[in-house]
Amino acid sequence: MTLPPNVHDAEPIPAGARRAIDALLQSGDLFRYTAPQDAPVTLLEGEFARLIGSKYALAVSSCSAALFLSLKALGLPRDARVLIPGFTFAAVPSSVMHADCLPVLCEVGENYRVDIADFTAKLDSVQAVIISHMRGHTSDMDAIMSLCDARGIPVIEDAAHSLGTTWNGRNIGTIGRAGCFSFQSYKMINAGEGGILITDDADLVARAVIMSGAYEHNWQKHKGPDGDNSAELEQAFARWQNRLPLYNLRMSNLSAAVIRPQLPELARRVRDGLRNHDYVADRLNGSPFIDVPPPLPPERRAPDSIQFNLIGMSDAETDAFAAAAEARGVKVQVFGQSQDNARAFWNWRFIPVLPELPATRAMLMRACDVRLPVRLSRDELNVIADILLAAVGEAMQPVPAFGT
Ligand SMILES: *Cc1c(COP(=O)(O)O)cnc(C)c1O
Repeated sequence: MTLPPNVHDAEPIPAGARRAIDALLQSGDLFRYTAPQDAPVTLLEGEFARLIGSKYALAVSSCSAALFLSLKALGLPRDARVLIPGFTFAAVPSSVMHADCLPVLCEVGENYRVDIADFTAKLDSVQAVIISHMRGHTSDMDAIMSLCDARGIPVIEDAAHSLGTTWNGRNIGTIGRAGCFSFQSYKMINAGEGGILITDDADLVARAVIMSGAYEHNWQKHKGPDGDNSAELEQAFARWQNRLPLYNLRMSNLSAAVIRPQLPELARRVRDGLRNHDYVADRLNGSPFIDVPPPLPPERRAPDSIQFNLIGMSDAETDAFAAAAEARGVKVQVFGQSQDNARAFWNWRFIPVLPELPATRAMLMRACDVRLPVRLSRDELNVIADILLAAVGEAMQPVPAFGT
């Protein structure tokens, strides 16, 4: 019998990382700016930019740091209003607060994507937008970009959990002015912690590089496409020399050594993750009480977890379902039901004016989250699907009539 898998275990880090780390431990050269060239962090930036299809990449300490630096690099005034989805991780409104801006929340639909009507209604009151592709679910980027471009409003993509997702064949993160990714352990590439900012905008990346902690002339070690310092980039750095504060959010060479050998694994992880997700989605959609929302037509997903909505269940039945699944060995997070959940907007009480979002709240009260690491076997996927379906059956048992 296959036991329920431990869904919190990641894949082993490829063996290549060990050699690179040994060399770093031998030399003690852990700081990205010590070596004159070819530091692991610098190499990672070039490789990542090529992989994703952007001109520039800046590796930093987390995706939160990348989001913060993107907002800072846009040069927004203090108290600028930044529109974000009402369904995302607390890191997103936190990065807005950290950048001295004000988060404005918009509604998210039952398919976990930005509600374009509410987005449009709020857009004229903001100076910037962060689109968070929460759990890798891509909002309608065609509608969002045309609305924002028409108003000259910059879009930052929080692609923390979307590495490998495409929209009309184009990598998510390359559509807005800047894209931010995470290398935290629950994402497609795992370094424990880490993030990267990508953009085609020389001025934006120059500002972000300096603020990330490239003091003095360390920016000379940041290269554009093809490894050269384009005149455009040189001029941008010269413009901002000594004019920006340093927040020191750099990545260490050790993290880059863990990340680089995982980049060639990405295509396989995306393929396996999508196959696993769609297999479990098909099985769950066989239940009248479960709905796994489909992708939008231009979207190709890269999932390492599955989200689904419980249909026609009361709060008590929802609780009974989660308890029955857990008793059988599968942890289900119902976003809105677990206490102090960091993805439930009403818990972001650090935001000065916290609005009510009725549609997003209703979605969160029935939306479930189950991790599906890409390494799972078909047997393990079946165990998970069987348990979830059995738990629905248990929660929705017809109540026996009195006396029987
Ligand atoms: C993980 C995650 C973040 C935060 O990433 P860190 O690297 O941990 O800062 C932000 N947004 C989303 C959607 C995430 O999934």
